[in-house]
Amino acid sequence: LYLVATPIGNLEDITFRAVRILRDEVDSIACEDTRQTQKLLQHYDIRKPLISYHEHNEAVRTAEILAALERGESVALVSDAGTPLVSDPGYRVVSAAIEHGFPVVPIPGPSAALAALAASGLPTDEFRFIGFLPSKAGARRKALEQLANETATVIAYESPHRILEALADMAEILGERPIAIARELTKIHEEFLRGTAQSIREQLARRSAVKGEMTVLIARSEKTSAIADPLAEVERLEREGLDRMEAIKAVAKQMGLPKRELYRLVTERGSNSPGKRRE
Ligand code: SAM
Repeated sequence: LYLVATPIGNLEDITFRAVRILRDEVDSIACEDTRQTQKLLQHYDIRKPLISYHEHNEAVRTAEILAALERGESVALVSDAGTPLVSDPGYRVVSAAIEHGFPVVPIPGPSAALAALAASGLPTDEFRFIGFLPSKAGARRKALEQLANETATVIAYESPHRILEALADMAEILGERPIAIARELTKIHEEFLRGTAQSIREQLARRSAVKGEMTVLIARSEKTSAIADPLAEVERLEREGLDRMEAIKAVAKQMGLPKRELYRLVTERGSNSPGKRRE
């Protein structure tokens, strides 16, 4: 079972290996929407039997795909766009194939989540992908409240019909947190909007229509409630080689504390600190 990533817009975004697997290696291709996949296959002159595989027929089709694998055939799974199983169907057939001992081979390629993250300008060292934001207002607000103290960059998919509402909730719940929206990635009208939820909302609301596929990125919280003990953190940074004032400045910034206040706490603690000074 090959899991083949396909373009998220620009048809050139497919690997040589993906084309070869689809054209030469597999006996059939399982896809969400046969018309959508047919466009890609025609572009690359690939002719293969298609099996429709989507969230409403997953159980039946999984059995059929397993039967094909049992006969010694190879099957490719693709989705309408990007990497299958990323907010797309496929989990059921992948877990069934593994359970029955068939090799599952990923053919990596585009995914809107990673393309959006890379160009967002937000930190990439740690990120959390949450799939689609909930469509109902109550559930969405709750999800956003849970992200208030998130310490990783958040990646979410959102529909253009709900983006203005979602941005209004983000402005209220997340305030000035930097946000980026990647719209129509790899397509002619590719666009990045960067700013606060409020400023991006104002920009989009001025347009006659808000269209196109969108991926939303939310900067991590800078209120690092993860620092339980600021004095210990100052000591830790000193041990790493920062001088005391530099360490105080860094911890104060991370915690949103006034520098002077943290300095007072550190000096009150007296000379017990093992921290070393660089100068
Ligand atoms: N499996 C896909 C992937 O790997 O990117 C995602 C499928 S999910 C059903 C579709 C959502 O992905 C869209 O609603 C949008 O949020 C995001 N998306 C897909 N293509 C995009 C693009 N070209 N630009 C921005 N976001 C996109």
